[in-house]
Amino acid sequence: MEDKFFEKENCDRCGNSLKIRIMSWFTDDVICPNCSEKESVVRRHLPDGGRDFEGCGYLPKITKEEVQNENS
Ligand SMILES: [Zn+2]
Repeated sequence: MEDKFFEKENCDRCGNSLKIRIMSWFTDDVICPNCSEKESVVRRHLPDGGRDFEGCGYLPKITKEEVQNENS
């Protein structure tokens, strides 16, 4: 697992090259800062900062309205 983490060259989620590697909160994916930011938006809409979802293996769905509120 950790070896893979450092061997990854592309984000598991969007495919961008990884200058900075970040471990996903929700899955085993190695992701870029951009995708990590999206996860943190999702986490902010989950109870307890998404603590119950750590390593759950999928990205919990939040509504588009919630995302838009976040950006405004
Ligand atoms: Zn990405």
